[in-house]
Formats: sequence, structure tokens, C-alpha cells
Amino acid sequence: MAELEGLEFGKSDFVLLDEVTMEQFMENLKLRFEKGRIYTYIGEVVVSVNPYRQMDIYGKDTIDAYRGRELYENPPHLYAVSDAAYKAMKRRAKDTCIVISGESGAGKTEASKYIMQYIAAITNPNQRVEVESVKNVLLKSNCVLEAFGNAKTNRNDNSSRFGKYMDINFNFNGDPTGGNINNYLLEKSRVVQQQDGERNFHSFYQLLRGGSDEMLGSFHLQNDPALYTYTKEGAATATSNNDRSSHKAVMSALEVIGFSQEEITSIYQVLAAILLLGNVQFESDGESVQIVGLEAVNHISELIASDVDSVCKSLLFRTVATGGGEVIEKGHTEQDACFGCSAFAKALYERLFGWIVNRINSVIEVKDYNPVLHGKNTVIGVLDIYGFEIFDNNSFEQFCINYCNEKLQQLFIELILRQEQGEYQREGITWQHIDYFNNQIIVDLVEQPHKGIISILDEACLTVGKVTDTVCLESMDTKLAQHPHYTSRKLSPTDKTMDFQKQFRIRHYAGDVTYSVEGFLDKNKDLLFQDFKRLMYNSANPVMKEMWPDGQLSITEVTKRPLTAATLFKNSIVALVDKLGCKEPYYVRCIKPNEMKSQVLFDDARCQHQVAYLGLMENVMVRRAGFAYRQHYARVLQRYKMTCEYTWPNHMMASDREAVEAIITQHGFQDDVAYGHTKLFVRSPRSLYTLEQERAAL
Ligand code: ATP
Ligand code: MG
Repeated sequence: MAELEGLEFGKSDFVLLDEVTMEQFMENLKLRFEKGRIYTYIGEVVVSVNPYRQMDIYGKDTIDAYRGRELYENPPHLYAVSDAAYKAMKRRAKDTCIVISGESGAGKTEASKYIMQYIAAITNPNQRVEVESVKNVLLKSNCVLEAFGNAKTNRNDNSSRFGKYMDINFNFNGDPTGGNINNYLLEKSRVVQQQDGERNFHSFYQLLRGGSDEMLGSFHLQNDPALYTYTKEGAATATSNNDRSSHKAVMSALEVIGFSQEEITSIYQVLAAILLLGNVQFESDGESVQIVGLEAVNHISELIASDVDSVCKSLLFRTVATGGGEVIEKGHTEQDACFGCSAFAKALYERLFGWIVNRINSVIEVKDYNPVLHGKNTVIGVLDIYGFEIFDNNSFEQFCINYCNEKLQQLFIELILRQEQGEYQREGITWQHIDYFNNQIIVDLVEQPHKGIISILDEACLTVGKVTDTVCLESMDTKLAQHPHYTSRKLSPTDKTMDFQKQFRIRHYAGDVTYSVEGFLDKNKDLLFQDFKRLMYNSANPVMKEMWPDGQLSITEVTKRPLTAATLFKNSIVALVDKLGCKEPYYVRCIKPNEMKSQVLFDDARCQHQVAYLGLMENVMVRRAGFAYRQHYARVLQRYKMTCEYTWPNHMMASDREAVEAIITQHGFQDDVAYGHTKLFVRSPRSLYTLEQERAAL
């Protein structure tokens, strides 16, 4: 329980509410937001409300105040959970993870950075050079990943368009020795197309606005994003990002991390090639397709260290293996050429991003770790992954992202229950079960083999012949007609809000989302002609070649049934959830107070919706039905011994447990507590509150 900040700031833990009602919850959340108290606990879970202003609560003094302290000794803060995770890792050699969730713009990425800064600040007191360098790379990696993976959207000027899970490894001293970053589903469609008012990834504007004349000249670029199809839309979009200064910061971060000059140049050459690809046009004379104006293609071939003929050929033809094993070249239609070109641009970016992540990983991977010599190598994982998305138009990306949130919610349910139950069991205390809405049924709707949406999509993608998105929708309608969380216009004919040909709706735990199937099959197939892969594999630039190892396969060796995008994503999320599941979890639940980025506005309806779907009310109830507060006897004694005549200044009892019993009995709280093997459990927070007040009054 947090230190009592004074009631004018509201309750620092929702468990302390007089009654667990949505009304009281919201009142408290709002009061705290208005008083500039952006963090509140539910037990060990931190609820955070985005302040949309710089707060003076992250400095060195604050770090010092939280270092090594217990959760309840200070006001609620990210630093307190970071410290709790760190202590669990260091003292008990537990792998821990901090899962940050919330919708776009709620403050997840900012929170993840404060957590990393805190961990960096409290470790390596002896300033060992190797450890400092690991910390430095970990911190600098954020800047690079944000440049390449974030973009301005209508919801957030710096929206992460990929999911990130970072493991930080620690040695037996508790100092960081390395780390590993996993990235999930980069929204690559953004490379070629953005919604009104949105931008492409920051990196493009940073290059065009911040790159030196010399660099841009050598890349055949001009410093105006309006000149390039892929950045035109976002060129006029006002944003709080300063592209020019960010470019400098990214360049320097890349150097600090250890990217060579050749690698840095190659990264920007790929960006330049993508921008130029966007300006390539095709025309058809009815018989064959031509590229309009060869200048751009000349420049592209130079940037990717290939020759102009090979680039032209990849853009205009594809190699196919006939049934008889013969290999032929087939000319594209104009439509195929356009499709191929933009698939190539997207893939170039995706490979670049993946390569950057791997390259950072190769720098920070733990080397020469010998468990016998060095003891257990423990880990703190930090997960900053896209929150639930409900847009006006929801496509394949939202489908994947929302599925991921269902999986994480499943984990939250599982872990919170499991954690509570496990603790009561270990301590020998009986526990009362609380019912949750179990969203497993929605997870199954999406991922079940043969019956789930992903399987139906995959099946449609593998079917030879012209299966359209609409045909796929029909197949879903037939197979999922009975599912309580699935509907469509065909299944609910009176619901005029859905389009007959195009839409289906999933009743997610966070609300109903209507998806448009348009483009689902293409995005799931994620087809890239092998010719482009070969082109890149044959690049004379070794850095680029490294990004395309699969380009060495000839068309006859290419597997006919590659895993689809949805299946690959599902596999990566299942692996993620497995990884998180065996760690001790800490949660940060972020709430976005309003849509206007206002530092004063608390939009009751929007906030209430988030509280509801994040399951925060159930969280409070579980916490209260069980024991809201638990602490080792020695700690309890140390904190409250002055409130009891038998324990102050010292006690004569056989154990700390008995001394604590004396304190509890003197205050008349014996019916409100349970005595575990090592810890005191307090049911109602009010008892503790009284103890705290008595302590404060002395
Ligand atoms: P997305 O899912 O789109 O990536 P997100 O949850 O990661 O969103 P952030 O990028 O962390 O959201 O936050 C959005 C913006 O809100 C930040 O750029 C910053 O301006 C502001 N913000 C968030 N948290 C804080 C904070 N603790 N203090 C000050 N400003 C904050
Ligand atoms: Mg983010």
C-alpha cells in the first residue's frame, strides 16, 4: 500500500475504495488525474493516466527515493514496480516481466522508457565499463527503433507501429550484461499508404529533412517529402516531431550502438531506394508493360548495388515454374507490376527493420556467460505492445493486433489468478474464487485449428484459383454462424451498420470491432515474387545481401506453401505468451484521458470504457476478496512496532510472527487478517490504513 499522500489526492490504491463500484473507481481516478497524481495501484498493478505534459517526477531524487524500497513506502510510481521486479530478480533469482498495456497514445512507450531508465540508474554502482556500455546500447536502441518503427497517426504523434518485447539480462550482481529485442508485426502497409492526416514512418522524413546535402545528393534525393509518393501525404502534416534534430540523434545512436559507417549508409540507401520505388510508374500498350522514365530505376539500381537491367526485369517479369518443371519468365500485367513494386517496397522496409533489430541484438547478446562460474543469468522482460485498436476502418492489421490483446488478456487473467492462488497455497491460507469473464472463447474463435478465423483465412489463401475476400467471408459465415462472438450482415440481416459483401464483426472482450475483409487475403498471403528476393540477394552490397538470405533459392526450390502472415504472427504471439507465462509478472495498465492530447481534460466515458475492458474492476475485486495486502513478518514488525506496547522498542516473543500477532490483536484486527507461513495477510485495507495513521500520528 502506498504511503498516504493525504486524502485530497484520492486513494492511492483502488483496493482502498469504500465500495468497489465503477462510480467510485472513476471518481478516484479522475480526482488523482486532476491533482497530478498519474499513478495509482491495484495491489501491485500500476494504473497510469497519460498526463500529456512533462511531470517533475522522474529525476534523480525520485529514483533515489524508490531505490530498494517497498511498494507501499512511497506514492505509487512506475519506479516502485520496476524496483519490485528488480528486487524479485536480484534477491530471489526470479525472472520477471513488466507488461505494459493500453490503447494507442495511452503512454506505454513512455512508461517503458522510464522503466528502463530506472533500471539503468540503479544498477552498476561501480561503473564497470562493460556494463555501462550494455546499458548505453539498451537505452540508445529506443531512439533507433522509434525512428524506424514509429509514425504519426491520428491517435498519437509517435505511435509505435510494431510490438516490442525486450529482455534485459542480469548477472549475479544484479547488473545488466546484455539483452534481446523481439519485434512483432511491423505495420509495413504504412510504407506505401497512409490514412488522411497520418504519416509514413519517421525515418523517411528524418532522412529527407535532416540528411546532409551531400548524403541526399549521393542518394539522388531532394530534401522535400512532398516530392515522393510514399511521403507526400504526410509531408504537410503538422507534427510535434522535429525530423531534422531526430535525424542527428538517430545517426549518433546508430554509431554508439556500433553500426559501421558502411551499415549506416546502407540503411539510408534502402530508405532512398524505397522512396524512389514509390515514384516508379508503369504503362501498358496493351501487349506489354513498360516502366515510365528510367531515371528512377537507374538510381534505384545504384542504391541497391545492382544493375539496371536486373531491376527492370524484376519489376516487369516474374519467374514461374511450370507443372513440367520448366522455368519460364512471365511478363506482368500493369496491375501485377504495381502490386509487385509496392510489395517490394514494403518488404525492403520490413527486412531493413528486422535486420536493424538483429544487429542491435548481436551487440547486446550475452557473450561468454558461464552459469557455473557466474551463477544464474536472470532476466527482466519489458513488453510494450500495441493496445486494442478500434478504428473507423479495421483491416487485417487490427485483426492481428486485437487477437494479440485477447491473448495478453488471457495471460493477465491466468497470471493474476494463478499468482493469487499460488501465494495462498504456499502460505497455507484458504482462498475464495472470483469469476472473471474468460475470453478464451474469443481466442479460440481466432486461433483454433481448422475452425478458427486464421485457419479459414489460410485455407482460402491456399486454394488454387480465384478465391476473393468475399468468398472467404462467406466461408467464415458458414463455419462460424453459431459462434456467440462472431457475426456478419448475412448472419444479422437487420444490422444495417455492416456491409453485406465486406464486413464481419467480432465481439472482443474490449468491445465490438467491425472488420473489413478487403485485402485480408493479400495481406495474409503476403506474396513477394521470388525475383525481388533474388535481386536483393545478388546485391553487391554485403549489408543488403545479408537482409535477404532466402533470395538464394531458385524458383523450383521455393516452398509452395509458405506460412501465412496470420499464422506467423500467431506463432510469434504464442511464443511470446509462453515466455511471459514463466516469469513473475508486473503490470502497468495505461489509460488515455482524452482524444485531444489535453493535459486537463478527463473524458469520463472514454476512461470508463478503458477501465472496463482492461478488467480493472475485476482486478480490484480479486485483490479485495483475497487479501489486499501481504508482507513478511519482519517488515510488518519494523514498520508498526511503535504502535504497540509489547513490541516497542523491542519484543520478547519467540518469533516475529508472534510479535506481529501482538500488534494486530492490540488493534483489534484479528478477524481481518490471516497468518501465513512467512507473511501476514490483511483482508481489508482499512486495517492497514488505521495502522498507517497511528504510525504517522506518533
Ligand atoms: P502507441 O500504442 O500508439 O504506440 P503509446 O501507448 O506507446 O501509444 P506513448 O507514445 O507512450 O503512447 O505516449 C503518447 C504521448 O503521450 C507521448 O508522446 C507523450 O507526449 C505523452 N505521454 C505519455 N506518457 C507520458 C508521461 N508519463 N509524461 C509525459 N507525457 C507522456
Ligand atoms: Mg508506443
